[in-house]
Amino acid sequence: MHFLDLILKKRSGSSLTTDEIRFFIKSYVNGQIPDYQVSAFLMAIWFVGMDARETADLTFAMRDSGDVIDLSHFSGPIADKHSTGGVADTTTLITAPIVAACGVKIAKMSGRGLGHTGGTLDKLDSIPGFQTSISMERFKEIVSSCNLSVIGQTTSLVPADKLLYALRDVTGTVDNISLIASSIMSKKLASGADTIVLDVKAGNGSFLKDQVEAEKVAEAMVGIGKTAGKNIKALVTDMNQPLGNAIGNSIEVVEAIEILKGHHAGDLKTVSVALATNIIYAAGIVSDLEEAETQALSALESGKALNHLVSMIEAQGGNPEVCTDTTLLPTADKLIKVQAPASGYIAEITTDQLGMSALLLGAGRSKKSDTIDPAVGIWMKKRLGEYVEKGDDLAVFHVNDDKNLLQAQKRFIDGIIISAAQPEKKPLIYKTLQ
Ligand code: URA
Ligand code: CA
Repeated sequence: MHFLDLILKKRSGSSLTTDEIRFFIKSYVNGQIPDYQVSAFLMAIWFVGMDARETADLTFAMRDSGDVIDLSHFSGPIADKHSTGGVADTTTLITAPIVAACGVKIAKMSGRGLGHTGGTLDKLDSIPGFQTSISMERFKEIVSSCNLSVIGQTTSLVPADKLLYALRDVTGTVDNISLIASSIMSKKLASGADTIVLDVKAGNGSFLKDQVEAEKVAEAMVGIGKTAGKNIKALVTDMNQPLGNAIGNSIEVVEAIEILKGHHAGDLKTVSVALATNIIYAAGIVSDLEEAETQALSALESGKALNHLVSMIEAQGGNPEVCTDTTLLPTADKLIKVQAPASGYIAEITTDQLGMSALLLGAGRSKKSDTIDPAVGIWMKKRLGEYVEKGDDLAVFHVNDDKNLLQAQKRFIDGIIISAAQPEKKPLIYKTLQ
C-alpha cells in the first residue's frame, strides 16, 4: 500500500477501507509517513468527510495505537464521563462522586486546561498533596475501594491522537466532525469503561460554537460508542455563559464542594445532576430515568456523594480536610471587585473571553508548558438575563500577581454586554442522544 494512493483516493471523494485506515494509523505512528503527507490527507478528509463506518474504523485504529486499559475484572458497571470543554465547567467533581455514591464505579482519566477552557487535573492539583499521576495498579485499587478515581492520561494512551492533534492544530483541520469524534472517542474507548456519558458543549465558550454542529459531533460519537458495544449517551448542553460561578482552579473545587454540601446551586448543579442521572440510568442499575434522578439527588442531599469525594482525595494523597474547611485550599492575596459600567440586562457574555481573562490572571495556560497559579480566578456574581444597576458587582477577581490585571479586567468588561432589552432565555440542556 502506498500512502499517496490513499491521499488521492480520499481527495477524489471515495471511502477508505478498514485496512487502508489501519495502514494509515499504524504507519504514521511508526514514523513511516511524513507529516507533510498526513497534512494533505487530513485536509482531504476535511473537505470530503468520512462516513460513519470510516469514522468508527479510524477511531478503533487510533484506540489500538497504544495501551487499552482493561477494567473487565470489576464486577458491575464502570463508567466514564467526558466534557468537550468549557468555562467554569466543574461537573466531574460533582457528577463523579454522586455516581460513585449510587454504586456505579467511575474510572476517569482527565486532561489539563488549555486556552480559555479549564481541565479537571489542574483543579484536582490545587488540593494540597493530591496525586494525579499514580500507577495503573493503584488507580484500580482506588476505583475498587472508593468507587471513584480520577487521574491524568498515561502517555501510552492513544499516541496516534497526540501526533494527529498536534498536526491538525497547525493545518486548519481541527474542526471536522469525524476527526473530532475519533479523537475524543479513541481516548474514551482506550480508557476501558463500559458506560460513557458525553457532555458536548455548544456555544461561545466551547470550541463547538454552533448547536447544530455540536449535535452532529454528539451523534457521531454516540454512533462510534454503540459500534464498540458501549452503553453510551450524550447530552448537548449550553456554553454561552460560564456554567458555574467560579472560573479558576481552587475556586472551582470550592464551588464543587459547596454544591456537594447543599450550600450552593445553579446551572452547574443542574447539569452535574443530569449527567449523573444519565450515567446511573445508562449503567443499567435502575429501570428508568426518574428513578436514576431520585437516586442522584438523594446521594447529593444525604452527603454520601461528598463522602466519596473525601475518600478519593484521601486515597490519592490529598488533604481531605479541604472538604470541611475550604480555606485550606490555595487562596489568593487580593479580592478585587469588578463593577457594571452601565445599567441594563446582561444580554450576552462572550464566555471564551472570560476564560481568557482568568487565564491572564494566571488561572490558565496559553501553551502546554505554561505554569498556572491554582489560587487565582474569577468568581461571577451575575448570570445572563439578570438586570444590573451601574456599579453593581459583576464579579470578584482573586488575584496574586497584578501584572496583567488591567488587561484581564478589560477582557472581562468587554465580554459582558449590557443592553436595555432583556435577552431570550436559552435552554440549559439542548438535547439528549442515545
Ligand atoms: N478534544 C479532543 O480531544 N479532540 C478534538 O479533536 C477536539 C477536542
Ligand atoms: Ca497566597
